[in-house]
Amino acid sequence: MWRSRLPDGGAGVTTERARDLAPLAVTRRPVVRLLATLAVVPPVRLAVARYAVPSDCPDRTGCDACGAPIGLDRPLPALGPAARCPGCRARVGAPPAVAEVALLVAVAVLMLAGGPLGVRLALAWWLACAVPMALVDAAAHRLPDRLTWPAAGGTGALLGVAALAGPGPAPWLRAVAAGLALAAGFATTTLLLGRRGFGLGDAKLALGAGALLGWHGWPVLVAGLVLAVTLAALAGLALLALRRLRWSSHLPFGPFLILGTAATLVLV
Ligand SMILES: [Zn+2]
Repeated sequence: MWRSRLPDGGAGVTTERARDLAPLAVTRRPVVRLLATLAVVPPVRLAVARYAVPSDCPDRTGCDACGAPIGLDRPLPALGPAARCPGCRARVGAPPAVAEVALLVAVAVLMLAGGPLGVRLALAWWLACAVPMALVDAAAHRLPDRLTWPAAGGTGALLGVAALAGPGPAPWLRAVAAGLALAAGFATTTLLLGRRGFGLGDAKLALGAGALLGWHGWPVLVAGLVLAVTLAALAGLALLALRRLRWSSHLPFGPFLILGTAATLVLV
């Protein structure tokens, strides 16, 4: 009824269709994409600085050397690429430029993965959580609940919206089942093998990763898991060869699950 034609010379674009295209047009602009990426650097760096501490320590709220508070009210230079304390110039959180490079890789994954807008929004949310999770796990061997639960919940909710907007409930139900199945598998290894199995943080991370993979089908879930385990095994062997790791050491699995999931979503 209000589906009037736009004054487009009769090319046949309806207002409804134009509204569908508008968000895509915005995300295609490289400058907008770059600014959006830069805008998430301070919160990502704050999450890494706050949670990259041993799990029995309280969250970090200030510089380790001088105690100067770290917060979004005064993001630079502590939460920028330089990652320096404003008081004593000591390093704060993730090494310089590492979070920025990781976020640019995440943007590339988002562009290459493609798909409907709703699914890309779910992936964007998960990647925004996955970057700090990977950096925290690599630095402190932990995946804090403050990151894993929002990642899983937001991803599941946004995939639900994507299902309602397009294909109906079937892919969403499969995604939820895949996330729960992967998480249950990881949690079972924790119960059976203790510290030699996956951690419970990995199981919570698997909820969102499994859902994103499972949306595309069960074979994609299996492919993502196989790729993650392969990447972890190769990295472990390389680190053993370089004597940076011993057989008894614990290699955090979170970064590999994130890399394996992202790479699989690009390839499908
Ligand atoms: Zn300081």
